[in-house]
Amino acid sequence: MTLRPNYFLNKFFTTNAQIIPKICIVGAGTAGFYAAQQLIKKLKTPQIDIIEKLPVPFGLVRFGVAPDHPEVKNVVNTFTKVAENPCVRFLGNVKLGTDVTLKQLRDAYHVVLLTYGANESKKLDIPGENLKNVIEARRIVGWYNGTPWDKDLDIDLSGETATIFGQGNVAIDVARILLSDVDELKKTDITEYALEALSKSKIKTVYLIGRRGPLQAAFTIKELREMLKLPSCSTIWRPEDFVGISEHLANLSRQKKRITELMLKSLEENNTQANKEFKPIFFRSPLELVGTDKVEKVILGINKLEGEDILKQKAVLLDKTEELNADLAIPSIGYRSMQVESSIPFDFKRGVVQNNKSRVDKGLYVSGWLGTGPIGVILSTMGNAFEVADTIVNDINSENLVDKPKGGYEDIKNTLIEKNIQVISWQHWEKIDKYEQDKGVKLGKPREKVVDIDKMLRIADSSL
Ligand code: FAD
Ligand code: NAP
Repeated sequence: MTLRPNYFLNKFFTTNAQIIPKICIVGAGTAGFYAAQQLIKKLKTPQIDIIEKLPVPFGLVRFGVAPDHPEVKNVVNTFTKVAENPCVRFLGNVKLGTDVTLKQLRDAYHVVLLTYGANESKKLDIPGENLKNVIEARRIVGWYNGTPWDKDLDIDLSGETATIFGQGNVAIDVARILLSDVDELKKTDITEYALEALSKSKIKTVYLIGRRGPLQAAFTIKELREMLKLPSCSTIWRPEDFVGISEHLANLSRQKKRITELMLKSLEENNTQANKEFKPIFFRSPLELVGTDKVEKVILGINKLEGEDILKQKAVLLDKTEELNADLAIPSIGYRSMQVESSIPFDFKRGVVQNNKSRVDKGLYVSGWLGTGPIGVILSTMGNAFEVADTIVNDINSENLVDKPKGGYEDIKNTLIEKNIQVISWQHWEKIDKYEQDKGVKLGKPREKVVDIDKMLRIADSSL
């Protein structure tokens, strides 16, 4: 389907002589939807267009959150209500930096809010990172969650050992999926091709390598508990990593204390029914990945910790190394945002759009991981989005941002038509959504995601 010029024309028709604030949000993820929700609440009748590079909405809630955490994905119900509000319009399959420029958006709208997230991974920058079967966690997550560009991931699960670098919740998600019973995963919205590959997987041991100690581990208690309760899997810690740890308990925050106590308690437990192992290892940094063609092992540097503040201590390499098997090596050391266009002021060191409390320039704002860095859960991203929306409302009221009428979507529509972009509306997405859910019913799961962009576009254009 090509864009029909009159498709959206009447949605925002108004008889009010007052100037309507026209706001463009770039990125239909957590920050984008929550910011829109708050803007609708605080402004009388704004006109909010959410442009999204994919034909489907929800960002990391669809493509990041683990398939066995369906309750987390319930936020899409809130996002759907936002999208259905008459003040909001979803414009999918439109990519900032390729299909439209920031200048075009800033000319067409009174306010542009960038919420395009963090779509790349941080790199270890060590030798051997390009060997076969060294695969970033982000790509494995994309593979099991149906991100279009990860669907054909070349992942070899025929070895017995997977070694993950980093101890955040993404690392835990990947470890859990690799160690879960496939019969459990079958009931989730995990992609069928991932399920098939996992059903043939020979992986028995997953190592989780942290450069610092148990007190500095980035994973959280709920996610650790899930690992400890995983059927058919035993969590095996190294007691030497916990020497002296209990002495710090009294000085820890409640949250830190609880997770540390949980680790100490589980040191002594062992699941004797288990045929798989989860093995966290602390005080080790990957120095080199080794193998001929495919990764076989990793050389780890042994660390000590330095610094006064126990939680902020830094890992310092000692002059000692050891080796560990790695049939599959998975760097999981964080996500990274990109400067999608050179006109976006970007802090390359921090990997965020340069901003002062979300303000980038007059009428230009940033929210979500793109502004804060790739840390935080849906709740904290929501908090940030609400704050940024409040800032925008204040600025609209005090800085005369809405001083003359602007064209909004009408002004960028022709560019998209010229480029033959098939713009996806919310109604189009609903067709894709229905197609996925119908397919899921046949497979006994909530949905089977469409993973091919052309197919998404065909479904959107069909008369289903
Ligand atoms: P995103 O959700 O990534 O949204 C950005 C959107 O911008 C995407 O839709 C993207 O396609 C779009 N976009 C990108 N580039 C462009 C462009 N050039 N033009 C137009 N659009 C563009 N939090 C929890 O609370 N619970 C969990 O279980 C949980 N699991 C997670 C699992 C993983 C693997 C990850 C990485 C994170 C998880 N989080 C979880 C954290 C949560 O997902 C984030 O806090 C939140 O989604 C960040 O929102 P965002 O809007 O900044 O980014
Ligand atoms: P993260 O929480 O920042 O964890 C990154 C891990 O990588 C840390 O253990 C860090 O160790 C390590 N690391 C960083 N650089 C390294 C290097 N050069 N060498 C070795 N190790 C290195 O990031 P994440 O796991 O990508 O998660 C991102 C955010 O999403 C987090 O806020 C997370 O809680 C959230 N999330 C939540 C859920 C959930 O709620 N279930 C699921 C997934 C993600 P140091 O601490 O030493 O730097």
